[in-house]
Amino acid sequence: VSVEVLPVELRGAIERLARTPVLLIASDFDGTLSPIVEDPAAARPLPEVVDVLTALAGLPDTAVALISGRALRDLAELSGLPAEVHLVGSHGSEFSGGLRLTPAAEELHARLRRELQRIIAGWDGVGLEVKPASIAVHVRRARPDVGAQVIRAVQSGPSRWDGVEVTEGKAVIELAVVRTDKGAALDVLRQRVGATATVFIGDDVTDEKAFLRLRGHDIGIKVGDGDSAASHRVADPPQVVTVLKTLLDQRRTRLDTPPGR
Ligand SMILES: [Mg+2]
Repeated sequence: VSVEVLPVELRGAIERLARTPVLLIASDFDGTLSPIVEDPAAARPLPEVVDVLTALAGLPDTAVALISGRALRDLAELSGLPAEVHLVGSHGSEFSGGLRLTPAAEELHARLRRELQRIIAGWDGVGLEVKPASIAVHVRRARPDVGAQVIRAVQSGPSRWDGVEVTEGKAVIELAVVRTDKGAALDVLRQRVGATATVFIGDDVTDEKAFLRLRGHDIGIKVGDGDSAASHRVADPPQVVTVLKTLLDQRRTRLDTPPGR
């Protein structure tokens, strides 16, 4: 696979991006670095992905992150990436290496925990899963009528509090005290690494919120068809690998050349 498969404007954008002082490379996982497969548990990154991301993360002033809708533990297991790569799960409510909450968010988290404990008290088969930035209420093991009643109490109570973000799933409702979208996650990451420019790559509608946060020399790359706010587009995960390899080559060259030469 060679760089010629990439659109010429994208090649130019990668070249400019590689020259930024502090670079953040952020990407979605499923459908972007790994081909979509029927069984989500069978998803694996393309063979060269781990090597190229590990090499990029090892360069000075260069940070790499995956931002996924998957739970953090899932993402860590499936992606097989070293600890230098930042992992963000659940669309931004779980950060590897921890997430420092603001005092207001911590206070809200504590208040949520008390209220949810009050709601579930006395019911069998209902449990709380307390995570750093969210609390999930699981009703899978409860009687269906009990589960429905608990979910309704959460929906009409703390779900409506200011600053609470709600995600509903099968027999679970999760309340987060931080913004849970990929755009907000991207902002947290670039602040954390002090990025002067960012590339974000993704294939799904949830990635659009991240594309919308890009500016300046940042580049957004949409994978596949469909409307997108991204400035560039590639066809499939193998082309994403080409983008990453091109960026690695140019970043290495750039870092070997003192500024001003
Ligand atoms: Mg995806």
